[in-house]
Amino acid sequence: MVTTRFAPSPTGDPHIGNIRTALFAYLFAKHEGGEFLLRIEDTDQKRYDEKSLQTIKDVLTWLKIEPENLENPMIQSKRLDIYKKEAMRLLEQRDAYVCNCSKERLDELRQTQAKSGKPTGYDGHCRDLNLDFKDGCVIRMKVPNEKIVFQDLIRDEVSFDPSTIDDQIILKSDGFPTYHLAHVVDDNEMQVTHVIRSEEWLPSTPKHIILNKMLGFRQVRYAHVPVILSPSGGKLSKRDGAVGILSFLHHGYLPEALINYMALLGWNPKTNEEFFTLKDLEERFDLKNVNKAGAIFDQKKLDNINRAHLLVLLGDKDRLMTLIDEQSAEFLKKIDRELPSGQSVKDVLLELIVPRIDKLDEFSNHLEIFVKKPNLDETILVFRKSTKENTLIALNEFTQKAGEIPGEDWIFDQIKALMEAVVEQKNLSNGDVFWPIRYALSGMEKSPPPEEIATILGKQETLERISRAVEALQ
Ligand code: GLU
Repeated sequence: MVTTRFAPSPTGDPHIGNIRTALFAYLFAKHEGGEFLLRIEDTDQKRYDEKSLQTIKDVLTWLKIEPENLENPMIQSKRLDIYKKEAMRLLEQRDAYVCNCSKERLDELRQTQAKSGKPTGYDGHCRDLNLDFKDGCVIRMKVPNEKIVFQDLIRDEVSFDPSTIDDQIILKSDGFPTYHLAHVVDDNEMQVTHVIRSEEWLPSTPKHIILNKMLGFRQVRYAHVPVILSPSGGKLSKRDGAVGILSFLHHGYLPEALINYMALLGWNPKTNEEFFTLKDLEERFDLKNVNKAGAIFDQKKLDNINRAHLLVLLGDKDRLMTLIDEQSAEFLKKIDRELPSGQSVKDVLLELIVPRIDKLDEFSNHLEIFVKKPNLDETILVFRKSTKENTLIALNEFTQKAGEIPGEDWIFDQIKALMEAVVEQKNLSNGDVFWPIRYALSGMEKSPPPEEIATILGKQETLERISRAVEALQ
């Protein structure tokens, strides 16, 4: 059976890159009918952030890519004895050795190597000294003198010359394992079959293959996914705006849209399709169609995908209500009533606003025109091709005609017909009439059409707003 895992280090809010890697590991496991597991790699105590574990769990739950062991993930800091035992085993097998080189010696070595343009790395000083293990020493793996070749599921054949593979520290002087030892031991225990991780780990992979072999573990398959690049081609960083997954959540992106977008950051569906649900992705995802090259983060595409999912969400207004900001939801519930057309004000507003936004955090701005009477600027009230006189005629005529129609006829089509009648009977242009009415109602140069706003506001509020506009002009 296929088993994949997500193995984040709890060092702050997860980056979109980390979660995209988790998504690929999840999708591959689901596609193969396998398992997806969580492991917390917290052996770097200096960078540990205690809130991070809960955030990681919340994000995976929110995105609905939950690992099987979400409630009970493997936690590395609870397994120090196990790693130490494995390090000692390697020592006994002479696949590892004790190193007591001082920090000063190592710094000097690095500087000399750098100066002469050589790659930096340990020079094997303690390799054959057979030093006894004492607290405060480190243990290094003894890299054999052989070429390492493996098939990466995304990159095909990858090979490393032994001269480029360092005698990596596997147990640190504080008794903690390094990532390299710990994750190999854990992947074996969790029976991971496929390690899907960022391409940043590619240069370390030969060490992991060697460690696996020395420890007698089953060899896993590797897939190194491309990093996410900024639009300018550099590594995506905080400078490029929102990169923490939480900020997407707080700025009105839907979980299903983020999943959809993240899948396309590297995976190529081999068609022009852009809209995918998690279920579609579980069916279609394939590591073969993950690109080798870095994936460029494209905010506009993310917004488009979010908008597409928002439109789908209009079919589930109850869920939509739970996703918009609390204040807007409260307001919608408060003003909800049945319109003469039989529709509910809440539903009409959702239908009106949602197609006009990219992200849910824009919702309240659009709702504002229904919450309070707008501030009007009389210079904007007059359409650019119109005059003050014609604007006044339009507004007064509309008010008079509106007075004649009964409340139950205060519906979209009737209001539109009223405005058209004003245009015709007063020999005005559409701009003379529709523009000032729309602006009088919304106070915005861009807003939904006047008949839509007026339907929701109701007759009385509509006429009050128009009369304010007339006053502003006089
Ligand atoms: N803790 C490592 C990271 O967060 C995991 C790498 C791996 O998946 O092996 O990058």
